[in-house]
Amino acid sequence: VIQTILIIEDERRIADWIRIYLERAGFTAVNAYDGKDGLGLARSLNPDLIILDLMLPGLNGMDLCRIFRQESDVPIIMLTSKGRKEDRINGLDEGADDYITKPFDADELVGRVKAVLRRYRGHVQKTLSCGILYLNESTQEVSLDGQAIKLSRAQFDILSVFMRNPNIVLTRNQLIEQAFNNNFEAFDRAIDTHIRRLRKLIHKNEFKPIQTIYGSGYKLVC
Ligand code: CA
Repeated sequence: VIQTILIIEDERRIADWIRIYLERAGFTAVNAYDGKDGLGLARSLNPDLIILDLMLPGLNGMDLCRIFRQESDVPIIMLTSKGRKEDRINGLDEGADDYITKPFDADELVGRVKAVLRRYRGHVQKTLSCGILYLNESTQEVSLDGQAIKLSRAQFDILSVFMRNPNIVLTRNQLIEQAFNNNFEAFDRAIDTHIRRLRKLIHKNEFKPIQTIYGSGYKLVC
């Protein structure tokens, strides 16, 4: 699959130079030379990543970043000017995934693009399933038989551990360690309470995947 990168940068010389390097690295790259054009192309092209210059005529990079974040999860690398530390802090606050300071080396930019895409792929592919039950670790959405269900934070974390380790007996300790990183102040029993509530939410008719293994712990049967 060839990935598409949208470059929103008004300095044509820099923009075209980035495009050529990305194309050489095997990407499809598209230029937008102002913010408005960039917004339109982002919506119509649905790119895999956006390289976004901060200083743009019309809609600036920070405004665009805010809009992109409301509309999608597309990874964003911001181009900022040297010495303007507050720009990159604001950019990361607005949801940029990384930033690179001008002037920069083209190979470094290509490296950053690949790294962000790699990170992002790992992130979005975390939809786990068990029969009619689906859990998305990045959006934290859970659905049962096509219906969205609401879980508490603890219930979600416990269910994630089960779904990452299907068909294996998990002890109470393992569940606590993996779900709460050992930051769990309560005792063993609390996990039983969470699981009892979790079962009420995700068990439906014949679908009863969380089994108690007496003397050992629990198992998610998929
Ligand atoms: Ca600029």
